Amino acid sequence: MTRPTRALLKWSNLRHNYRKAREATSHEAYAVIKSDGYGHGMVACANALSGEADGFAVACVDEAVKLRNAGIRQPVLVLEGAYDAEEWEQASEHHIQLAVHHPQQLKDRAEAQLSDDVAVWLKVSSGMNRLGVKLEDAPEMIARIRNDRGLILRHVMSHFATSDEADTSFYEEQKQRMISHAWPVPLSLSNSASVIRGGVAEEKVMRPGIMLYGSSPCEDISALEAGLKPVMTLQSALISVHNVKAGDTVGYGCTWTAPRDSRIGVVAIGYGDGYPRHAPTGTPVNVAGQSCSLVGRVSMDMLTVDITDVPEATIGSPVELWGELVDVDEVARLAGTISYELYCRLTQRVPRINL
Ligand code: PLP
Repeated sequence: MTRPTRALLKWSNLRHNYRKAREATSHEAYAVIKSDGYGHGMVACANALSGEADGFAVACVDEAVKLRNAGIRQPVLVLEGAYDAEEWEQASEHHIQLAVHHPQQLKDRAEAQLSDDVAVWLKVSSGMNRLGVKLEDAPEMIARIRNDRGLILRHVMSHFATSDEADTSFYEEQKQRMISHAWPVPLSLSNSASVIRGGVAEEKVMRPGIMLYGSSPCEDISALEAGLKPVMTLQSALISVHNVKAGDTVGYGCTWTAPRDSRIGVVAIGYGDGYPRHAPTGTPVNVAGQSCSLVGRVSMDMLTVDITDVPEATIGSPVELWGELVDVDEVARLAGTISYELYCRLTQRVPRINL
């Protein structure tokens, strides 16, 4: 028997979620597939969306070149990066668009021999204060880009710091700071949370990421409420079943004590697969179609579940850790993280099965 742990990837749901993003407004949407498509497989995501996506966004030039080498022909934007002269040349050769966020990047560009024009998006910091030129410095950067005969200024972009929060006051403030300027090229502002909140009328290109995979980043709007469907279902199976007496403890550190005589199921997944070690007792795990609770500490290759109320559960019974039956955002919340991290941390040991 092979290890039963696997991640099922339902690509029709990726397309469904992309369409959800697109239908909120009439804007274009670049699908954010950086960090290996948030753990789902970057090239597989691009292929699944190749008939519909207006473009793709990745984190670095290496990722963009990988897409080009895989035959992806849509526009590709690099969101983050420093870009030395060699990367400028690669961008020019492969028709990769670059987000420019610092004057140093234009100095490095001057060292490069571009074989073709490079389309750039100027990244403005409107409140995130991470990457981006300050609003007051944007006009000078725009002038410098426009004076460079090898560059084409395509968009001005900014990124929201709090669009996922129920209190939307700072999100509204950031929006206002961006739309109150007279920009010479169209804007790109929305991440998933902003798309789910209805987008920004004044922008032209949205940049949804996590919602494409079926998760909602918004603390006040669930994935279900947003009409999203999970792309990934993380499955395993019971590899052992045994009884413990009330008062017995289970697992490393003896952190869980059975409050009653209990049946324990052992599942073939652990933090070595990317399941979060910090998921506490009580985290939902679906066993044989029934919602159960994780109990005790998560080990590297296994975790334990209270299956007392599922008498039909036996060795080989199917287990879902997140996906169709278990909300990944709930697992992430209980583990003190976000679904982005759970997806990205899924290790290569877990086979990806395309549906
Ligand atoms: N735009 C930029 C600049 C980003 O860095 C990211 C992700 O970090 C996104 C868009 C997509 O964000 P989300 O996955 O929250 O939709």
